[in-house]
Amino acid sequence: MGEYVYQRCIQPECGGSLSVDDTRFVCPRCGALMDVAYDWSRLPVPNSLRFFESRWAERADPLAWSGVWRFRELLPFAERRWVMTIGEGQTILQRADGLCSYVHMNPGRLYLQYEGLNPSGSFKDNGMTAAFTHARLVGAQRAACASTGNTSASLAIYCSATGLMRAIIFIGSGKIAYGKLAQALDHGALTIQITGDFDDAMQRVQQVSRQLGIYLVNSINPFRLEGQKTIMYRVLEGLSWEVPDWVVVPGGNLGNASAFGKAFFELHQLGLIRRLPRLAVINAAGANTLYQLYEQHGVRWHGGRWPKEHVERFFEEMQANHRRASTIASAIEINHPVNLPKALRALEWCQGVVREVTDQEILDAKAQVGAHGLGCEPASAASVAGLKRLRLEGVIGADERVVCVLTGHQLKDPNATVAYHSTDPQLFEEVLGKRGVRRPTFANRAVQVPNDLNEIIKAIELYA
Ligand SMILES: *Cc1c(COP(=O)(O)O)cnc(C)c1O
Ligand SMILES: [Zn+2]
Repeated sequence: MGEYVYQRCIQPECGGSLSVDDTRFVCPRCGALMDVAYDWSRLPVPNSLRFFESRWAERADPLAWSGVWRFRELLPFAERRWVMTIGEGQTILQRADGLCSYVHMNPGRLYLQYEGLNPSGSFKDNGMTAAFTHARLVGAQRAACASTGNTSASLAIYCSATGLMRAIIFIGSGKIAYGKLAQALDHGALTIQITGDFDDAMQRVQQVSRQLGIYLVNSINPFRLEGQKTIMYRVLEGLSWEVPDWVVVPGGNLGNASAFGKAFFELHQLGLIRRLPRLAVINAAGANTLYQLYEQHGVRWHGGRWPKEHVERFFEEMQANHRRASTIASAIEINHPVNLPKALRALEWCQGVVREVTDQEILDAKAQVGAHGLGCEPASAASVAGLKRLRLEGVIGADERVVCVLTGHQLKDPNATVAYHSTDPQLFEEVLGKRGVRRPTFANRAVQVPNDLNEIIKAIELYA
């Protein structure tokens, strides 16, 4: 397989490349990000996406059961013997009629791709199984990441479930939701908490990995993004292989946005779809780098001639002003998105738009998602809040077919949920008020009742 697969610099004119088993993940010529590239003409690619339906009949085979590897012909970078799966990607597209009125969509037009159902409770497992497979292919013994929480939870679960590698995770101080920290600790990862935020942890893990030769699973790793492409394959499958009009996704490090763009671009190149959907990436207002650059500064990919100096100046200014990311949606609390150029490219391929939403909008949307049957963490609800905005602006039509990606499970961050619904004003202020959240519009308050049978019955008859 090796000779048909390599890593290629994303800058079209650069021509830099790396072999499939190189773990530097940046262009040796210009330092840009790399793509996993395939010589499709020499690889067996099905001539219709319907081919993948046949995998359902083979699901006793773990590679056919995995929601990632049953699409392995579309990410053919590793021989079967290296593939490490723990049953990730058993996630389905769900029609969300109950939410339509909240986001002003016509019934039947909104779908949610609920990635909270993955083994570690977030979409990260789609990417981790691919990175982990690549790590085995190169013979790695230790793997590391910096994380706002879910990447580390995912790495920890893959290491502990397979016993094949030691997990080393870097987190910032006080910046991790308890559900996620609990996973890293319970699954036995070496957890290194440094003073600083995610962006600091990210810089350190790259230095340390280089120095110690530890395999890096952050989203700079292009093999992770190969796994995340399958989220979109499952979306297409859920729509009987029809392309939706819009895909709406929260943007943090922009791995998903980048992976989704690559997925659709490749399918189109291979003649497996006739058009690409449009892409909407949603930032939190407190971590809105992509929104500022794309929508306010007009920064575009321009076929690879994107204004690098302009972007560098933007980051220098951010540094000079000591601007730190701040949002309740901790999974997207990132000011220096690693995959920025790839995301710009995806936005070009998919005629994308970027929006920002406040923590208030995020939590209200999250409560609505929950009230209609799917539990998600705050960052995930940014997609639904973003859709609502795009509907109010008229950018998305009420009758277009829209898929919002719910990236992580509700139980990842119980604090945010409890504070939102709480009757305790102090708790609300502590967790949400200081972030500018004013009212929990859809709060479902616990009812305080004395321990008395009649009072309890009265309360139930009153409220239910
Ligand atoms: C990692 C993560 C994100 C951000 O995804 P990117 O690919 O980094 O943009 C959003 N939501 C959740 C729940 C996450 O874990
Ligand atoms: Zn290059």
